[in-house]
Amino acid sequence: MEWTPGDRGDISDQRGRSGGFGVAHLGIGGFLVLLVLSWVTGTNLFSLLGTGGSAPTQSVGTTGEVASSPAEERLVDEVAAVTKDAQDMWAEKLGSRYRRTKVTLFRDAVQSACGFAQAATGPFYCPEDGQVYLDLGFFNELSRKLGAPGDFAQAYVITHELGHHVQNLLGLNERASGDRRTGAESASVALELQADCFAGVWGHTAAQPGRAQAGKVELDPGDVEEALRAAAAIGDDRLQKMATGRVMPERFTHGSSAQRVEWFKRGMDSGDPRACGGSVATTR
Ligand SMILES: [Zn+2]
Repeated sequence: MEWTPGDRGDISDQRGRSGGFGVAHLGIGGFLVLLVLSWVTGTNLFSLLGTGGSAPTQSVGTTGEVASSPAEERLVDEVAAVTKDAQDMWAEKLGSRYRRTKVTLFRDAVQSACGFAQAATGPFYCPEDGQVYLDLGFFNELSRKLGAPGDFAQAYVITHELGHHVQNLLGLNERASGDRRTGAESASVALELQADCFAGVWGHTAAQPGRAQAGKVELDPGDVEEALRAAAAIGDDRLQKMATGRVMPERFTHGSSAQRVEWFKRGMDSGDPRACGGSVATTR
């Protein structure tokens, strides 16, 4: 994938605001308890936890310094470039129906209008404040644990979440709210597959030649395969199998690997959001 760094206007950087390791996993209360116990017993109990003996210097809601690396800053630029590119596309396709949002970057934990979330939740979209939340550490998971590396695999994750924003703006998610079912046939899985398809629609746009020269995101050969690998890697059947050794379609939340690949391709091949609309309607 080719892209130009620089414009971070679509990013809300809260990496310095979220808690450090000690705060996120221990909480201030737990920290104080351990501090007292360490003092009483004369043993540094923090070392047992691997959190170090120093007091947490940051907590949720306070502004702290962002300790970052050049590699991480490049990742921020990439997320910013993809987010801007995809939002430009939606603004073009939907006109005044589209309202730009931000991708909020956080570390370890974040407070959203949808509640307190930890990085383990993975990237998510909060309809209450209309923002995408992303801990850059997820891309490590995607690459190392799930076997889906690469910048376009990352772009697929971002544009999938922006797909939920589109659903929110168009009221598509309301159509699913009356469906109490869970599992492979549920409306919520259909919404996830539609978001995959919306990510594919952006992929179609980004595949157009000459975009890089115009300062936009442009796909390289092999990028589509990368995204398809990512879609297959985070299918419910595969994740369930990795976690429990079994596949339970009645507990599907996002669709099977085959379904996720199929719906991404539907958007990628057509470049038309209307090609993604069937999923909600056909499951009811
Ligand atoms: Zn989703």
